[in-house]
Amino acid sequence: MMDIALILDADAPGFHTQASQINQFLQLSQLTAERLELWLFSDEAPQNLPRLGGEVAHIRWVSTPRLAEVRIAVLEQMRHAFEPRLMLFAGDEGGEWATRLAYRSGGSACCAVEQAQINGAECRVTKAAYGNHLTAELAMTREPWCLSVARSGAASVEVVPSPVAAQRFEPANIADTAWLLASISSPQPAESPLSRARYVLAIGEGVGSAEQVANVQYLAARMGAEVAASRPVVMNAWCEMDRLLGMSGAIIAPEVCIAAGVSGAPAFAIGIRHSKFIVAINQDPQSAIFAQADVGIVGDMHEVLAALSKAL
Ligand SMILES: Cc1cc2nc3c(=O)[nH]c(=O)nc-3n(C[C@H](O)[C@H](O)[C@H](O)COP(=O)(O)OP(=O)(O)OC[C@H]3O[C@@H](n4cnc5c(N)ncnc54)[C@H](O)[C@@H]3O)c2cc1C
Repeated sequence: MMDIALILDADAPGFHTQASQINQFLQLSQLTAERLELWLFSDEAPQNLPRLGGEVAHIRWVSTPRLAEVRIAVLEQMRHAFEPRLMLFAGDEGGEWATRLAYRSGGSACCAVEQAQINGAECRVTKAAYGNHLTAELAMTREPWCLSVARSGAASVEVVPSPVAAQRFEPANIADTAWLLASISSPQPAESPLSRARYVLAIGEGVGSAEQVANVQYLAARMGAEVAASRPVVMNAWCEMDRLLGMSGAIIAPEVCIAAGVSGAPAFAIGIRHSKFIVAINQDPQSAIFAQADVGIVGDMHEVLAALSKAL
């Protein structure tokens, strides 16, 4: 057994989403049997926490200003004190923390990792590369291994009373940040309307025009689905930017995703691959989207959607 520290910000708006991403990572990696520690940045002792997919042996919490420089220094102290071999981060800041901490501690870092396996002195990680055209497997040797987990669709996590008493960590001294003359916290972006949708209708450039998008929005509302879009659709301003799916947009995990008029390019496909069931509609039978779909319908998306909305 080896020690893994899961590092989360309990006061961040995306706390539960990050916990669910860490859970998914642990399960894919089969690391849940290892000894887990949860390290929380929190203004007060945590009472209720998201249920994590593994037995948490220790919960440590620390209260610090919300400044990356301070938090990295505190994490360095915690690493010295508790010596985990693997440190896991999530969320938008996760990649930055993982790389900075690895540099400071002489370890190694990898960002947006989908799964990891530990074999003795080596940590082998898998991640999407080249815009999701390739899956890369990389071997890391220098410890601590500092990883940020890949974004994934938000699965709901149960909130439970803290499984063990949380212990407060008191940093020896807070890093001197006198050199930092000013800092501005940018507003946290609101959660995407797509992140918790159960049914999503994802439209691609095959939709044809802004007028057709309006018609599809009407049909989606009748089906009880949220509308999402590929990049050309939002770049044409046919749809709001917060509807974008894929590498540069949202990653979703709905019960059903209907992908209509979408070719299935890797940069788009990464956004829907966690969907439980995918229906693809495309007039080209050779379209790549069919390889990703549970059900494929070859035909004109407008005709098929009109028929579907009547049937549902
Ligand atoms: C760095 C980078 C990041 C990117 N990030 C993203 C991203 O986050 N999200 C994203 O979506 N893209 C992203 N892209 C772009 C991506 O590579 C593709 O170009 C894009 O996803 C294609 O969108 P599409 O499938 O809607 O359009 P197209 O590839 O043009 O496909 C349209 C499809 O519609 C079908 N069709 C046409 N008319 C009809 C009809 N009436 N009925 C049924 N089917 C029809 C066609 O057969 C075709 O398969 C990124 C690219 C790069 C380089």
